Amino acid sequence: CGIFAYLNYDVNRDRRYILQVLFNGLSRLEYRGYDSAGIAIDDSNFSPLVFRQEGNIESLVKSVYQEVGETELNLGECFGTHAGIAHTRWATHGEPAPRNSHPQTSGPGNEFLVVHNGVITNYEVLKETLLRHGFTFESETDTEVIPKLAKFVYDKANEAAGGQVVTFSQVVLEVMRHLEGAYALIFKSLHYPNELIACKRGSPLLLGVKELTENKENSSAFEDNKFLSKDGKPRELFLSSDANAVVEHTKKVLVIEDGEVVHLKDGGVSILKYENDMGEHGASLSRAFS
Ligand code: GLU
Repeated sequence: CGIFAYLNYDVNRDRRYILQVLFNGLSRLEYRGYDSAGIAIDDSNFSPLVFRQEGNIESLVKSVYQEVGETELNLGECFGTHAGIAHTRWATHGEPAPRNSHPQTSGPGNEFLVVHNGVITNYEVLKETLLRHGFTFESETDTEVIPKLAKFVYDKANEAAGGQVVTFSQVVLEVMRHLEGAYALIFKSLHYPNELIACKRGSPLLLGVKELTENKENSSAFEDNKFLSKDGKPRELFLSSDANAVVEHTKKVLVIEDGEVVHLKDGGVSILKYENDMGEHGASLSRAFS
């Protein structure tokens, strides 16, 4: 029912702070109603950790702190960059339960993680295909096909090349080609640490940018919606289905349009436009700023 993500770039934030931003974002989405909640953050080796809980956000918070523990929380004080995602779920497919909560995962190792608002109408067909390719499913959600499809696309593309040849946005664009229904999605991946991808069709999605150094040139360019260079300035980036969770951090909010793919990487933001008839790459640069 609500999605939220936080990425800090070149700013030292400890894990406690990152968790606080994610939980705070979730509590801003709470009023929309939900039956479960979940988050994903990185451990100190940049492997994604997933926490999912049925019930209210408070119980999720409790279980995260119990599991992560004080020592882990104090590790990684000097994270320059960290990408966390969060979700409140209003179940449409599969009862409220931890296994059906989001982030949904590609499988062991959390190679690809997805939080989703909406409904994938052709998930059964996709699931059948993925089952045939050896994937096993742990949830009854429509969402689970998405991270698994991402892993399938990623593995297939890299297999022949014998190394990582695809970018995160290429993976997501290929996944989108197969999805029918309504969605706002945020992807996180073990293979692309410190990057996030969000895309939408029919469900709301916003981007918020908080500059941590005053820079007039940049802010006017952002307002023009055109271009901001990847200047490497420290900043915090937010993605959310609801402005409520973003405006407390920044007033620089951009509404993402249907078919747009937002790629957060190296402190920059690129927005690609998904286009059906563009063959393999299926995208053109729509807007870019950081
Ligand atoms: N259809 C998804 C599910 O049931 C997402 C529901 C939502 O928007 O919260 O897991």
